Amino acid sequence: MATNSVLLGSGQRMPLLGLGTWQLPHVGNRASDVEKYLTTSLRRLQLDYVDLYLVHVPFGFVPDKTSENPAKNADGSYILDDTDLLAVWKAMEQQVDLGRTRNIGLSNFNISQLEQIASVARICPATLQVELHAYLQQPALRACCAKLGIPITAYSPLGSPGAKIHFQQKYNFQYQENNEPDLLEHPLVKQIAGSHEKSPAQVLLRHLIQQGIIVIPKSANPTRIKENGKIFDFQLTPEEMIQLNRLDRGENGRIINFLFWKGVEKHPEYPFKL
Ligand code: NAP
Repeated sequence: MATNSVLLGSGQRMPLLGLGTWQLPHVGNRASDVEKYLTTSLRRLQLDYVDLYLVHVPFGFVPDKTSENPAKNADGSYILDDTDLLAVWKAMEQQVDLGRTRNIGLSNFNISQLEQIASVARICPATLQVELHAYLQQPALRACCAKLGIPITAYSPLGSPGAKIHFQQKYNFQYQENNEPDLLEHPLVKQIAGSHEKSPAQVLLRHLIQQGIIVIPKSANPTRIKENGKIFDFQLTPEEMIQLNRLDRGENGRIINFLFWKGVEKHPEYPFKL
């Protein structure tokens, strides 16, 4: 039994039996290391198991001496590791058998990688977590998930305002400029929001959940966290859904392409088309 607990508003403590979603890091993407990295997370969380453990990315880097960061080549690029995705998945399944995670899933895998896993999986991925929002609607990947019976989870569902600046500052990585407004500022999104007396964020989230997509918006602001949960008391019309669908920019809408990790695109399992 897990020993952790959270303090409720009432002053009572509620025991936590498992907690949220955790990820196998890019430096741990090898079958022999899955147990080690999950053990580290469980120790830090003071838990016996998590509810969901994801393979964060389909490519792997060689860890540096700390084993938390990638080792680098002289030019600053990350040292790429061989990554055997099927072997990693088998090791993930073993962690379910051992009761250390209730569910296992994938993140940032493309169609071909997902199909490979599905073809050998004894335990089906509980979800595929990918970047998905009105500018990057991923119809082909969604169709593949539907065919395989794997629920899809949209990360950055509000278009992750501020992400580009964050990655530019953290990794000194320059994004290509485009003239598209942030999704939360898009005139169409604002107009639809106004007609429903909802916020742009609520419209963007509703657009996804109305198509059966799981959303995981992030906010550090209590008012916005509550706002993001109030999306089950209105419906977008078929015409509004079509208008929002037309905002899709395909690959040009992608923000989290991981190119801020220098050299990642040379990894054989780099999942995106450049
Ligand atoms: P996001 O949820 O689309 O955007 C978060 C940003 O939107 C924050 O700056 C937040 O600011 C703002 N925001 C939230 N609610 C708002 C509202 N109602 N009105 C206006 N602004 C609002 O993008 P994200 O943070 O990139 O992604 C969300 C989740 O996906 C996170 O939990 C993240 O860990 C996960 N994720 C996973 C991966 C992966 O590789 N698996 C990659 C990226 C992200 P405030 O805090 O000021 O409200």
